Amino acid sequence: MARVKCIFCFETGDRAKEHIWPKWIHEFDDTSDSKVIVGRHFGSPMTGLKLLDERTQSDNSFVFGQVCQSCNNGWMSRLESRAMPLLKNAADEGVNAAPWSNEQSRIVAGWAFKTILMINAGTNYRKIVTKVHYRNLYNSSNPPRGVLVEVGLSKSIVAGRELAQSQNLMVLGPEETVVQKNDRHQKRSYVIGLALKHLLLRATYWPDHTASINPDSEMTQLFINGVSSAVDFKKVIPSESTAHLSIGMIVYPMAA
Ligand SMILES: [Zn+2]
Repeated sequence: MARVKCIFCFETGDRAKEHIWPKWIHEFDDTSDSKVIVGRHFGSPMTGLKLLDERTQSDNSFVFGQVCQSCNNGWMSRLESRAMPLLKNAADEGVNAAPWSNEQSRIVAGWAFKTILMINAGTNYRKIVTKVHYRNLYNSSNPPRGVLVEVGLSKSIVAGRELAQSQNLMVLGPEETVVQKNDRHQKRSYVIGLALKHLLLRATYWPDHTASINPDSEMTQLFINGVSSAVDFKKVIPSESTAHLSIGMIVYPMAA
């Protein structure tokens, strides 16, 4: 049995072959295609969005080998079975899905963040997520401070599974602040989203806590800084596209 130093618990243990998309999803959406979208670039507001790179990868290549068996069979497996019924219902039913309580939102946010970490670790995109965030999730079962997890709905069923990752955060605020903060924080920030049938999930990280993350978001807040929010899917407005899955907006307050 191959041994590995686990990216979550830092222990050296027997290696698990952790699929980025958990096994139940393969049966659930009956597709073997996953679409990976990377590096969506912001143009100016005048020119609109420019897509830099889009590709598909087969599911078999979505295996990540740096997880130990005790994590894989322990907390990750428990998280999977708690989140699965909630995810399936929302992915199938969209606006008619059963609402999520605060606690259910917290479970889904943990699952979304776990899956998003696996997406970045297991695809051949730049490793934009700091290693510390893997450890944070293992220690607290929740996304770390500064990470906003949001939920949304797609009007039509998304064909295949979609993963989108980028560091495309538009920073707004007083000019001096923007220039200075942009340089310092952009390289550590990330936006990673996924789509499963009607369900959209996105995690946005900005290291500076004095800014607001996605204040005018088209998505609904699920979890930030230790606090989860209940979700009423009847109030979620379904979006026409999934283009926003890898785009974030950071807003600094104007000087008083
Ligand atoms: Zn482990």
